[in-house]
Amino acid sequence: MKNILFVFSFMLLSGIFLKAQNTAPNEFCGTKPGKSEWLKKYQAGKLHAADRGSEKLYVPLTVTIVTNDDGSKSYSLNNVFDELCQLNRDYDASGIYFYLNTPVRWIANTAWNNHKDYGTAFDMFQNNVEKTVNVYYCSDAAGNCGYDIMGVGMVLSKGCMGPLSHTWAHEMGHELSLPHTFVGWEGAKYDATAVPDTINGYQVELVSRSNCNTASDGFCDTPPDYLNYRWDCQADGKSATQLKDPQGQGFRVDGSFFMSYSKFDCMTRFSAEQIAAMRTNCLTDKGSFVTKNFNITTLKDSVRVLIPLNGSLLKPDNAVLSWIKNDDYTHYYYEVARDKNFNYLVQSKLTTDTFALLNPLLVSKDYFWRISGFNLSSACQPQKTARFFKFTTDNSFSNVVDVNFLAAVKVFPNPLGSEGLLRVALQAQRSGKIALSLHHMNGSVISRKDFQISDGENELTIQHENLSAGMYLLRIDAATGSIQRKIVVF
Ligand SMILES: [Zn+2]
Repeated sequence: MKNILFVFSFMLLSGIFLKAQNTAPNEFCGTKPGKSEWLKKYQAGKLHAADRGSEKLYVPLTVTIVTNDDGSKSYSLNNVFDELCQLNRDYDASGIYFYLNTPVRWIANTAWNNHKDYGTAFDMFQNNVEKTVNVYYCSDAAGNCGYDIMGVGMVLSKGCMGPLSHTWAHEMGHELSLPHTFVGWEGAKYDATAVPDTINGYQVELVSRSNCNTASDGFCDTPPDYLNYRWDCQADGKSATQLKDPQGQGFRVDGSFFMSYSKFDCMTRFSAEQIAAMRTNCLTDKGSFVTKNFNITTLKDSVRVLIPLNGSLLKPDNAVLSWIKNDDYTHYYYEVARDKNFNYLVQSKLTTDTFALLNPLLVSKDYFWRISGFNLSSACQPQKTARFFKFTTDNSFSNVVDVNFLAAVKVFPNPLGSEGLLRVALQAQRSGKIALSLHHMNGSVISRKDFQISDGENELTIQHENLSAGMYLLRIDAATGSIQRKIVVF
């Protein structure tokens, strides 16, 4: 907390809020310009870590999907899994692996989901889980595709994610200490007629490499880059624009780096020096939670579905999904949508159950559903979600009563005499079948009777006799559950 406040006041002083207030089209990255203090020390030779470079390093993540207060503007967990996989592919050459420390969380808060300034995000960061890298999916990341506040939290804008995005790799680069390849040029305009020797306190990197250790990002294997806007690369991966360095040497910018501002299809890598810095950051700055030993569970099978399969006809108010338990998985995630691309989700849930009772659906409509298995110890979830099933809802409701549709259930008289009529009054929102049963407290049944109830007020009776004094249970069973009431006999 103290740390968060410190960074917060630092950002206030450094004027970073100005950029965040620009809500116009997304900026690519809202991470604080310049180099991190950690990287300055590292490049000054003050930070070392015993790193053979070949050992895998495992970084725990806490991923939170932020939604509006009413749960709207959420994000598909399947997409998060795919994007975590992409993050790990982007980091494959680095030997750094990211895994979920706990299942993905959802937090409903409209202000956080659509935050326009970093101050609001700091309230959100109060939900951080310590000793993990905290990643928040928001609808608006203060006007950016993403930003990272090193050691505090990372925000990814949902609209900038997806299968072609390297936003996460870029922001994770910042979290692991990397600056932009064009550091110094953030917010500065390049003018070919007057290229300065320094920009915003950073030496401008020369094509000759003579100052590559001290200029710009301080990495000699990332060549000069002065482009601080989103740019597209040519077939050779370089910028169409010809630039000149302060000595008049012409060059085109290499767009292959995740830490540049080239478009996603140009980005493919981190340099060897960038990787060495990130690994050292993992082993020092994050040494208390980055581990070298981690067992990745290999997920062999996709989840096998029981019902409904393709072409099923389901009652709209009584739709159940069911699948087979698979020991590879600790959790399952299902989605029900109106379209086969799952852009219009009507219900979705992360669950440890092997079934789901759906909330009432619309009549006579097509629905699509899919299920994926998930295991916390699988750092990269393979594509398990390609298969989906289509079902249709019937044009009428089932003749069963959802227990949630029963209201004002009254049992009388209570206490009850040893024999007589037990009366139950209830309100039903729909006609259908229910059962009343009287039980001993240990659960054994004394009597049971089925009833057809109608829409509205109902009064039902059961005859009972020879009940000894004590406590009993009355159960009302409907299609989707039951209600219990205690009855006292005197
Ligand atoms: Zn950035």
